[in-house]
Amino acid sequence: MPKAKEPVFSHKVFQDETAAREALEAARWPDGPVCPHCGNSDPEKIAKVEGAKQSHRPGLFYCVECAGQFTVKVGTVFERSKVPLTKWWMAAHMLNAGKRGVSAHEIHRVIGVTYKTAWFMMHRLREAMKDTNAGPLGGGGKIVQADETYIGNTKRAKSYKKGLRHKRQIVALVEPKGKARVFHVKGATAESVRDILVTNVDRKSELHTDESRLYTETGKEFADHKTVRHGWNQRGVYVGPEGQTTNHVENFFGNFKRGMKGVYSFCSEQHLNRYLTEFEFRFNNRLDLGVGDKERTLLALKGIEGKRLTYRRINGDQV
Ligand SMILES: [Zn+2]
Repeated sequence: MPKAKEPVFSHKVFQDETAAREALEAARWPDGPVCPHCGNSDPEKIAKVEGAKQSHRPGLFYCVECAGQFTVKVGTVFERSKVPLTKWWMAAHMLNAGKRGVSAHEIHRVIGVTYKTAWFMMHRLREAMKDTNAGPLGGGGKIVQADETYIGNTKRAKSYKKGLRHKRQIVALVEPKGKARVFHVKGATAESVRDILVTNVDRKSELHTDESRLYTETGKEFADHKTVRHGWNQRGVYVGPEGQTTNHVENFFGNFKRGMKGVYSFCSEQHLNRYLTEFEFRFNNRLDLGVGDKERTLLALKGIEGKRLTYRRINGDQV
C-alpha cells in the first residue's frame, strides 16, 4: 500500500473545540439554528444559553417554542459521541481527501483515538455521507451506464469458497460526467436489476450496458438501450459503433476495488453498503464536478443530520 500523505491539521477546526463546533453549526444550520425537537427556526425564539455555569454544555441553545435544549450534535450521528469535534473534523477530512479513503488504523494512529473508536467514527461518517434525497439519475437526452461486478471475499473465506456465487455482487449506475449510484445485491437477476434501474433512473434516459441478459428486457423500458461488447474493437477499448460505452461505470468499479484492496483489506458483507456509500459520495463530489477536498469534507459533515446511527456500546465503551 502506498504510504498516505500525512495530513496537515493547521486549520483551527482541527485545533480548537469552539471553532470546530461553530464550523459544524455553520455547516448544519447555514440560516441559523433549528430546534431538532420541534423544528422551530425562528431566531427570536431560540436563545443561546451562555454563562459561566459549569452545568452549561458549550454551544447549548434553548428553544422558546418547545422549552427544549439542544446543541449542534443533537439529532445527528455525533449525538452520543464523546470524541471532541476537532477529531471528527480530522477524521472527516482524512476520509474525504483523495479518492481512496482511509483506514481506521490510520485514523487511530494520526488523530490519537483507539482503533475501536476510529472504526466507529468511520462508520458514522459513512452514514453521514449517505445521499438520502437523491432524485432519479439521467433524464431526457442523458445517458446512464449500468453494469455489475463482483467483489472478492476475504483471503480466509476465499480458501474454502470458490466461484462467483460466493462473491458479493455490486450493481452501479453512472451518468457520464455526472453522478453514480451503487447497490449491493445478493445475486443479480433480471428482476433485481430491473428494480434498481426503474427506481433510480429516469426512463427518458438512454441506457448503456454490456450484452448481459440482465438488461435485455428492462432496457426496453427506457428511451433507448445500447449495448457494448466488452473489448469491442481492440483490447481495452470498450466503445460501440454508436459511441456507447460502459467505461465510466468500469472506472468506478476499478477505483472501488483498488480502494477496497489497498485501504480496507477486510470488509464484511454487513458493512459493504457503507463502503459503497463512501465511494459513491466521493465520486459524486469529485474535483471534476468542481468539489475540492475542503468542500467535500464540509458536505460530508452536513449529512450528519437525522442519521442518529447508534452503535450500541461494546464492552461498556461509548464512542
Ligand atoms: Zn423546539
